[in-house]
Amino acid sequence: MVSRVIPVDQFDLVIFGGTGDLARRKILPGLFRRFCAGQMLPEARIIGAARSDLDTHGYREMIREAIAEFGELSAIDPEQVDQFLQLLSFVKVDALGDEGWAELQSLMGGTGRIEAYYFSVGPSLFGDIAERLQKWGMADADARIVVEKPFGRDLETARALNQTLATYFNEDQIYRIDHYLGKETVQNLMAVRFGNMLFEPLWNSQYVDHIQITVAETVGVGGRGEYYDKSGAMRDMVQNHLMQLLCLIAMEPPSQFSPDAVRDEKLKVIRALDPVLPHHIVRGQYQAEPCNEPENPGYRTEVGNPRSRTESFVALRVEISNWRWAGTPFYLRTGKRMSERASEIRVVFKDTPHSIFGEEAGRHRNVLSIRLQPNEGITLGVTIKEPGPGGMRLIDVPLDMSFAETLDPDDIEHVDAYERLIMDVIRGNQTLFMRGDEVEAAWRWTDPIIEGWQARNDVPKPYETGSDGPTDANELLRREGRSWRKET
Ligand code: NAD
Repeated sequence: MVSRVIPVDQFDLVIFGGTGDLARRKILPGLFRRFCAGQMLPEARIIGAARSDLDTHGYREMIREAIAEFGELSAIDPEQVDQFLQLLSFVKVDALGDEGWAELQSLMGGTGRIEAYYFSVGPSLFGDIAERLQKWGMADADARIVVEKPFGRDLETARALNQTLATYFNEDQIYRIDHYLGKETVQNLMAVRFGNMLFEPLWNSQYVDHIQITVAETVGVGGRGEYYDKSGAMRDMVQNHLMQLLCLIAMEPPSQFSPDAVRDEKLKVIRALDPVLPHHIVRGQYQAEPCNEPENPGYRTEVGNPRSRTESFVALRVEISNWRWAGTPFYLRTGKRMSERASEIRVVFKDTPHSIFGEEAGRHRNVLSIRLQPNEGITLGVTIKEPGPGGMRLIDVPLDMSFAETLDPDDIEHVDAYERLIMDVIRGNQTLFMRGDEVEAAWRWTDPIIEGWQARNDVPKPYETGSDGPTDANELLRREGRSWRKET
């Protein structure tokens, strides 16, 4: 079952911000892996465009280093690196001026070539770049643009950005990236839900007790302090990544696996979200690690704002008002400097209506765990009899659907989210990208939550580095007889 890689059509991909952190860590190493996998024809062209004082030779050397550092390949073949670097060129471009645009334009085009422009720059430059692409004749009807997050910081700014981009490009040319959607397990979640008869009949409030979505990081804000302090966990994580996971879990089966059919269903979920009550929200801010403060300072020290009220953690109890989910809470939480790095979804099924095994057999629940990282995979917890003598004692064991263990590892091609999504752009498939109305609907739900905090002068609760967030986040579930599930 060796995967068949079909090369994509010829393309010219311009990466604005081609010397930046994201380009060096994710985009170009990802493109290199696709090159090694045989997905790019040798005539593909990748053009780095940024403000940096570099020429093509200097840029190739920069990317050679980036591949060595971030390539994530067991062995890197220097010959393949050389061949890949031949696809690269560099143009010094000023997104706010005229420098470099004529040269960039002269490099583009050719019959039948796909033209894609990746905006890997700060969001304040998105509109300027779109405008200049049009001015310099590069915004053809079949050109594609890829827009990084954050897409606005509230409904108003997201709407303005959508309007600006719509001046130059049609919706079917705009690829708004949420790299969570490019993860293998996220797509496998859709395969499990809609490719099996087993789960769908149980996938509703009649059988599901509640759903937990956790995205926890062990790192702090690091070098992103200035940006993060103006954003916080709600804007940085919940409005986009957690919201997308929630949509995929909660949406109705689309009529087909096509971009608009999937995105229509996701949009319906966002529109059916209830406003969140203040006592269903817990905000937190990490404290310095007492014995290791210089290495792990508290949030306020790290962002250089001693009075900051920005949350580095948030937990929410969310409800969806529709036939499928009315009455089933979704608990969302995300935070930095937590005890472990984990992105996972847990679908916790209800108790059996009656236990024939008596009190001593204990309470057992089926839990479907979908892990996005680390160790991507899906596990279904089922209850069985504990082997051996001594009566009917029940235990929960995982039915493991991890690809790495179930499938032959040599046959699995691990594809990073970014490389998958960039290839989707070249193929013209928008299924795993957010549509403009989806982003706006997500902000429409998020804005009142943030405005509520501002109106109440809400101060985030402190939590210890290496913990699971403020204790109130446990209380959010405990008062309803539930708890955050730990990996079994
Ligand atoms: P960065 O600051 O490391 O790089 C910015 C790039 O933009 C550089 O190449 C710089 O030369 C270029 N640039 C800046 N001003 C310019 C101008 N006037 N004209 C032309 N080029 C200009 O930023 P980054 O971390 O690579 O992030 C890029 C985008 O991706 C941002 O929107 C960010 O929010 C988003 N993003 C980044 C990450 C990440 O892990 N770094 C993750 C998710 C999203």
